[in-house]
Amino acid sequence: MEKEQLVTIRRELHQIPELGFEEHKTQQYLLDYIQTLPQSSLTVEKWRTGIFVRVEGNVGERTIGYRADIDGLPLTEETGYDFSSTHRDRMHACGHDFHMTIALGALSRLAANPADDHVVFLFQPAEEGPGGAEPMLASEEMKRYRPDLIFALHVAPELPVGTVSTKPGLLFANTSELFIDFKGIGGHAAYPHLTHDMVVAASAFVAHIQQIVARRVDPLDSAVITIGKIEAGTVQNIIAQYARLEGTIRTLSPEAMDGVKNEIEKVARGYEIANDCRISIDYGSNYHQVFNDEEQVRRFETIMETSPYSYQESKMAMTGEDFGYMLKEIPGFMFWLGVDSRSGLHQSTLMPNEEALLVGVDTVEKTLREL
Ligand SMILES: [Zn+2]
Ligand SMILES: [Zn+2]
Repeated sequence: MEKEQLVTIRRELHQIPELGFEEHKTQQYLLDYIQTLPQSSLTVEKWRTGIFVRVEGNVGERTIGYRADIDGLPLTEETGYDFSSTHRDRMHACGHDFHMTIALGALSRLAANPADDHVVFLFQPAEEGPGGAEPMLASEEMKRYRPDLIFALHVAPELPVGTVSTKPGLLFANTSELFIDFKGIGGHAAYPHLTHDMVVAASAFVAHIQQIVARRVDPLDSAVITIGKIEAGTVQNIIAQYARLEGTIRTLSPEAMDGVKNEIEKVARGYEIANDCRISIDYGSNYHQVFNDEEQVRRFETIMETSPYSYQESKMAMTGEDFGYMLKEIPGFMFWLGVDSRSGLHQSTLMPNEEALLVGVDTVEKTLREL
């Protein structure tokens, strides 16, 4: 597929970002495009707002999977593009418009000229939340399309165009959202003894849970607890009856994630007694680590040796990705694709360089044929 056509597709997808499991226009766009391809080797099936596409291979001993996530974010775009999002407060700010375009590019080439192996493209909804990888993997449809190996890419704003990067083993951390609600008794600012003040309880709690990272996590393991938002009270001279903390937990190992959650719950029980209040904890969406299969990464590195693009080994990141659920059950890997944007992922000014689209298509196609 020519570069201009990739740019057109990317810009059209960029204009219609939708949130997890609401990707109806996106799904229709993808289906309409797939319909224009030679159909003789294709099987296409919808799964919720996602799609499975199978390309029959020439030999077909194995099935190789390629996963592209398709959802956008609840964000107001500030790129100034003339092809900016037409959906209010929605933006493709994580590069999933790139991921889909690259998948369509590779699919076009394979539909015209199949690989030796069968190939399955998984257009997966809801990566940003509530999480589409886990239910897609568990679906009835997946039984018919299940690949033997699987890989995916993610755009990397900090890497130059023409560079791809990954590493064996742990690539992305374990992540969990964290929402904590405090309920006590409010009252007059001058009568604290008649109240159970949730501003005081929640503030102390924020400071206290940092001790979990410092004192309860193995120093050779690693964890981050960040509270990014606090909400409490109504006005300056009333003691607050409610408080809410919103944050995230990141850990290197799944064991540390379980341990940190357990410690937070213990601290919460203690605070309930000490502050005469009720504390409820909700973990929102949780993502399992992205753990790359060593053997498949080594295969990929060998494939990159004959690629016109450059490869470098990456570092581990404390970001999360629900592709980790697929890698838990199917050997494979994720790699970074350099897109050279000054703004990072999830920023309203993310502007990935479209020259990277062709790099992505070439790399995915080559990997599907040679893995
Ligand atoms: Zn994202
Ligand atoms: Zn993403």
